[in-house]
Amino acid sequence: MEDFFCKVYREKIGLIYENDYFYSRFDRYPIAPGHAEVIPKRHVIQLFDLTSREWMFLKGALEDTVKVIESYPLKDMYTEFSKEFKEIHKNSPWYDEMSKNPGDAVTRDYSKKMLTHVGIDKTTDDYNFGNNDGPNAGRTVDHLHIHIIPRYLGDAVDSRFGIRWIIPELANYKK
Ligand SMILES: [Zn+2]
Repeated sequence: MEDFFCKVYREKIGLIYENDYFYSRFDRYPIAPGHAEVIPKRHVIQLFDLTSREWMFLKGALEDTVKVIESYPLKDMYTEFSKEFKEIHKNSPWYDEMSKNPGDAVTRDYSKKMLTHVGIDKTTDDYNFGNNDGPNAGRTVDHLHIHIIPRYLGDAVDSRFGIRWIIPELANYKK
C-alpha cells in the first residue's frame, strides 16, 4: 500500500520546494511556525538507505527549504488552515491543498495554536533538524522525512539542550 509521503508527492499536495531527489512541505501538525519536512521522492525508509548522490542533494534541499520557510507568509497560511474548508476562498493559494484534505480538524487546531505562538511574528536563524530513524526512535510513517523545526526566543520553558528533551528526565545535566 502506498504510504503517506509517496501519496503526497504523487498528488503534489502542498509542496513548497523540490529538487531532483527531494521535496518539502509544511508539517500540518506543526510544533512551531514554519515547521517543515524534507522528504526523498524515492520510497526510502531510513537515513542510510539514501544513495551518495541523494545525500549530496539533501544538503541543497535542507538549505533551500530553510530559505522558503524564512520568506513564506506563515501567518496567512495558518489563518487559512484555521478555517473550515467551506470558508476558504477559491483564490486562496492553499485552496487546492485544502480541497484534498478538507475535514482535518487536527490541522485546524494546530494552525490556531501557531497564530498565538510566540514566534509567529518573529524571524529566526535557529533550527532543530530531526529524523526519527526507526520505530523506537519515534517513526510513525515508514518513509524518511527530516523535520526542520524553527526555534524562537521564548518558545519553551527551557530551550537549552534542544533535542535532548526527547528523554525529558535526562535532558538537563546542569540542574
Ligand atoms: Zn513511500
